[in-house]
Amino acid sequence: MDNQVEEIKRKLDIVNVIGRYIPLKKKGRHYTANCPFHGEKTPSFMVSPELQIYKCFGCGKGGDIFTFVQEFEKVDFKEALEELAKLAGITLVRNDALTASEAHRKKLLEINAEVCRFYHYILTKHPLGQPALKYLTDRGITSEIITKFKIGFAPRDSQVISAYLLSQKKFVLRDLVDTGTFGANRYGRPGVYDRFSGRLTFPLMDYRDRILGFSGRILPPEFQPGKAPFDGAKYINSPETELYHKSHLLFGLNFAKDAIRTQGYVIIVEGEFDMISPFAAGVTNIVAIKGTAFTTEQLELLRRYTDTLVLGLDSDFAGNSAARRSIELADSMGFDLKVLSLAPRFKDPDEAVHGDLPFFKKQLENPLPIWDFLINSAVAANDPSTIKGKKLILATVLPFLTKISNSVIRADYIRKLSLEIGSSPESVTQELGKYSAAPAAKLSIPVITAPVKPAAVPTKKLRLIQYLLCLILSSKNPPVVAAKVLATLPDLFKEVPLYQKIIDLLTKEPFDGIENFHRSLPAEIQPTFQAAYLKGLSYNFTSENRRREIKTTVSSIRIFDLKNQLKNQSQQIALLESRGDEALLSVAEKDYNKTLHQLLELESART
Ligand SMILES: [Zn+2]
Repeated sequence: MDNQVEEIKRKLDIVNVIGRYIPLKKKGRHYTANCPFHGEKTPSFMVSPELQIYKCFGCGKGGDIFTFVQEFEKVDFKEALEELAKLAGITLVRNDALTASEAHRKKLLEINAEVCRFYHYILTKHPLGQPALKYLTDRGITSEIITKFKIGFAPRDSQVISAYLLSQKKFVLRDLVDTGTFGANRYGRPGVYDRFSGRLTFPLMDYRDRILGFSGRILPPEFQPGKAPFDGAKYINSPETELYHKSHLLFGLNFAKDAIRTQGYVIIVEGEFDMISPFAAGVTNIVAIKGTAFTTEQLELLRRYTDTLVLGLDSDFAGNSAARRSIELADSMGFDLKVLSLAPRFKDPDEAVHGDLPFFKKQLENPLPIWDFLINSAVAANDPSTIKGKKLILATVLPFLTKISNSVIRADYIRKLSLEIGSSPESVTQELGKYSAAPAAKLSIPVITAPVKPAAVPTKKLRLIQYLLCLILSSKNPPVVAAKVLATLPDLFKEVPLYQKIIDLLTKEPFDGIENFHRSLPAEIQPTFQAAYLKGLSYNFTSENRRREIKTTVSSIRIFDLKNQLKNQSQQIALLESRGDEALLSVAEKDYNKTLHQLLELESART
């Protein structure tokens, strides 16, 4: 298997592999992107084709193609291996059977696929599905869309499907129940009942087209002929199972992901039809969260494709506290949030697409910034001419305004809000103070994330040493540059043993290109090397600029050392003066002057 891992690594280029998931930009000898693993708006994620590694300077994640696929797709090593083997066109030699839980999950996926085929057949081919089909046609859903989304209908009589799955397909009862679609009959009756019976069914697929569960919509009474219409919840979903986790699923993501990437934003809607109708009308960068609030997991999924969300939620969502929390969540994760404004003409995207498609598309081109939307909807929901109304508006909007980090933008919205409620901006600002939360902890970006022992080295000097290491490693001929630096500052890297090791290997062993050097490093040094090398590349210096930076940094370090030396020497002088030791004093003073002279010389050379 190790051989195959190496073979896959040889066949695949990390730039192509990662480029399939996120857009990469070429910058000199490396590629950059907004990190898919943490929220950011300026790229700190780097991919190096030379070393075949990636590294994020924001969150510290890094590795090779295997770790990337594992992290990105949230799969284990074996699954990543399978996927990359497929990509590389290599057939894996399997010497290990599926684990019990893998086999069980596989079985559940098989049942779900079979159930989906069955429901779809009933809807599209069987008389039992005709009323449901008519309902869809009346809603403007074409047969093409029904096929693409594998929409189906679950017959009222649960026996039909369970008999098919048990006797014909030879699945076992236990597994049927484990899919969540079926429940064991109660009161001692044998067999299972179908949770979705009598409902229109939508398979809930993950972004890899695997069916994890279903949602079912009740049909209006006029489409339920012959039987007493039942009136359960309008929509129901599969319960949580080994496969299906509501908080992780975005309906339609498997169809929308490519368009989200190319369009640069995703439209988020509430229900299945809100997703399907715009999709059928050509607006394909759209997913449904199946509810009014989104979760961290859903946002993490979306972040793989974009950092801009356009919310096409129901018109009253700003008043919903769960929705407000999810806006806060998305904002804190660094998403840019906009709102597709359809009110008061339309209640939701489905209605708008069928009511006035050009209007829908036009609104989509001009989404409202989230802050405008929040102010507008709070003002619309409360009477700004009354004291009570003003208070409610402020209480709704101010918690959000405290989140705006840009003070100019915040001041603009304070002005807008004060105009809307007829107060002065000063009094609104004063109110705002009451809501100011503690500022979110800023993500610090260490230059090098590998452990160093900084206690002995002053922070400022450590930063300079790190910077110098980055510059040396990213230069065209690292051993030569390192030797030049060492000629002036021979002991510099001794302050950080890990760096000293890298410099030693660089200058004392024959150098055969940065790729071979990287490969030859002991495993415990590799992360530090990778971080420093990639950080160095990320500065994108021309050779000349790099040379100048190295020179300046070397002299900064010397100045730092000389200043320290001066401090020590002057303490020494004070001590000798108090003792009255004239002989030593004059030597010390000479030394002091010599140091001072060097310092002045260096400092004047810099200006
Ligand atoms: Zn990151």
